[in-house]
Amino acid sequence: MSTAADTTGATLPEHVNPAAVQEVLDGQWEHVRNGARVQLADTKWAPVYGEDIETARARITELARELAKTGQTALGFPVEHGGGGDLGASIEMVAFIDLSLMVKVGVQWGLFGGAVQALGTERHHAELIPKIISMELPGCFAMTETGHGSDVQQLRTTCTYDPDTETFDLHTPHEAARKDYIGNAARDGRMAVVFAQLITQRTPRGVHASAVPIRGEDGAALPGVTIIDDGYKEGLLGVDNGRLSFDHVRVPLGALLDRYGQVAADGTYSSPIESETGRFFTMLGTLVRGRVSVGGAAGSATKVALNIAVRYGETRRQFSAPGDEREVVLLDYLAHQRKLLPALATSYALHFAQEELTVMMHEVLGSSTVDTERQRELESRAAGMKAANTWHANRTIALCREACGGAGYLAENQLPLLKSDIDVFTTFEGDNTVLMQLVAKGLLTGFQDDFGDLSGWGKVQFAADRVVGTVLERTAARSLIQRLIEAVPSNTEETFIRDRGWQLATLEDREEHVLEGVVNRLRHAADEDTDAFEVFNDAQDHVLRTAQVHVERYVLESFVAAIDRCTDPDASALLNRLCDLYALHTIEQDKGWFLEHGRLTPTRSKAVTATVNELCKELRPYARTLVDAFAIPDEWLNCAILDEEPARQDAMWQEDSRLRKGARPGAEDTASEVQVAPGQ
Ligand SMILES: Cc1cc2nc3c(=O)[nH]c(=O)nc-3n(C[C@H](O)[C@H](O)[C@H](O)COP(=O)(O)OP(=O)(O)OC[C@H]3O[C@@H](n4cnc5c(N)ncnc54)[C@H](O)[C@@H]3O)c2cc1C
Repeated sequence: MSTAADTTGATLPEHVNPAAVQEVLDGQWEHVRNGARVQLADTKWAPVYGEDIETARARITELARELAKTGQTALGFPVEHGGGGDLGASIEMVAFIDLSLMVKVGVQWGLFGGAVQALGTERHHAELIPKIISMELPGCFAMTETGHGSDVQQLRTTCTYDPDTETFDLHTPHEAARKDYIGNAARDGRMAVVFAQLITQRTPRGVHASAVPIRGEDGAALPGVTIIDDGYKEGLLGVDNGRLSFDHVRVPLGALLDRYGQVAADGTYSSPIESETGRFFTMLGTLVRGRVSVGGAAGSATKVALNIAVRYGETRRQFSAPGDEREVVLLDYLAHQRKLLPALATSYALHFAQEELTVMMHEVLGSSTVDTERQRELESRAAGMKAANTWHANRTIALCREACGGAGYLAENQLPLLKSDIDVFTTFEGDNTVLMQLVAKGLLTGFQDDFGDLSGWGKVQFAADRVVGTVLERTAARSLIQRLIEAVPSNTEETFIRDRGWQLATLEDREEHVLEGVVNRLRHAADEDTDAFEVFNDAQDHVLRTAQVHVERYVLESFVAAIDRCTDPDASALLNRLCDLYALHTIEQDKGWFLEHGRLTPTRSKAVTATVNELCKELRPYARTLVDAFAIPDEWLNCAILDEEPARQDAMWQEDSRLRKGARPGAEDTASEVQVAPGQ
């Protein structure tokens, strides 16, 4: 039986059952994934092209309501309020269907419902959660302001308590303080969870959230609330983003979502968390599920694009090899394999890391005891995976579009929609660059500092000496990984390039080196006569690189751990080969660093590239199996080339052969005066 370390390069079994690979991919939440595949197996869910904005919004709203009826969107809410009580049950399957629907659903149940659940207390839950689950109460998550998006601790909306009326005065003091890009605001939202600076007894208490009605039953904005449509966007046509402003709107005391900060009727403020910054980032930390879902959704959209491009690449033919009558299928070209197969391997790797993250979230959020360090690790993982998944999605969907040539550019082939819809995933739920700084800060401080706060970089105490050890402890299958690394001979020059231990050790060594380097640079920030901000800013590229190499290391480890869980020997052998491709492609992409730091000799560096080429060739016959294992129901795809291309290629081939044998174009019989159409 093949194991997670079996990377001998031996011949792969001729046939690998996609269902066996699917089983590993579906993992712990197989029942949720299969539930969606069965319950939503209807073409009415599939994406639609060429709609106007109003039609798209109306259709997506209607589909969201229908989705609510299936129970899919309730799975993550507590049982006592009508949910499924399964924190890891994600809605990311919807992203296989349509990203507008995914985002609409994400706003309603993930962001709006999630904020009420995480920041509110029992009375909010009892009153609001059932109506949120059923979508009787469509809502918004109103945090971002025009002036402050990444730095949300600096929001300018105010929420001032008045003990005489026992209400808050919610106010937008100027244009930059208006809420912006808010999903569900322009058309459907009746209520918004509004984040604002809370002031009681003339004292600022930091950012808090309240559940504020914004529209009446008739759909009109309530008095004091101004709603402006954000209008056309690059993508996500079916999502109604808008701007919200409040002109001294009176909000009852009970509307404050007061799990982390309470206001008594007389205005006395209390909180279980003393520090304002600590409180704010604890509140944000509880909203981690949204970020996890966005990463998972980007992964699903990438799989759709790869499914289309691989299937097209298997049938589309261009140019013939000398002596061959029939033209070559695209996927037989190394250049085409190089486009799609490393991306496919990366999608698998990210999928397994995302699964590990979901398990971690399920455990941390479901635990009755609070483990602050583990919570910060979870936030760091969620941030890193959101960035890695969404950047990979953007690169890969663009590649897939290109890999389908002109056909990839036609709306009817789904890729243009995916490409325009996925773009903003790098920005919302946290800008990727900002998120990667959070990952680095968590690593450099050993998760001791407030996670999420990037303003105090200069003053933080760096703790790299203990950091690497702490972080490495936590990865799944750590003991297996340790054994593989320890088995690597000291003379790495002679180690087999496909040796999993060598690959793991190479990424681990890179992470340790980069981390130590940046700590040494930043320690100067603590010196009194240096400008802390300048020291940090000068090292910002180095800081971001720390996060990147950290993520790449644990993504590889997650892949290894997933193979270890696989019980089917053929699937395991195939996944091992794919894991080689992910590991060596990752090393190949960073050759400059490995060569600069003497980690690879020029000879070995060339061998890495040669092995990536070999792996592409070895995996090419399994490309279809690997995308079939995503098990995307046909009903969810609206892609003309998938239906038409095999038949079109066969028809072209038959017509072509007849022409070359002397037939008139389109004629049934052969004739002598044939004109063979010239090439373009
Ligand atoms: C379609 C869409 C839907 C959205 N939905 C919602 C919603 O429902 N609710 C909600 O509250 N918000 C929503 N948002 C807002 C979204 O979360 C913000 O746009 C996002 O957080 C980024 O903020 P920003 O736009 O102000 O960008 P900025 O923070 O201004 O970032 C601009 C650029 O500056 C860079 N940058 C920022 N800070 C740093 C730094 N310290 N170091 C280096 N570079 C930096 C960033 O990397 C980025 O490239 C949505 C946005 C969009 C586009």
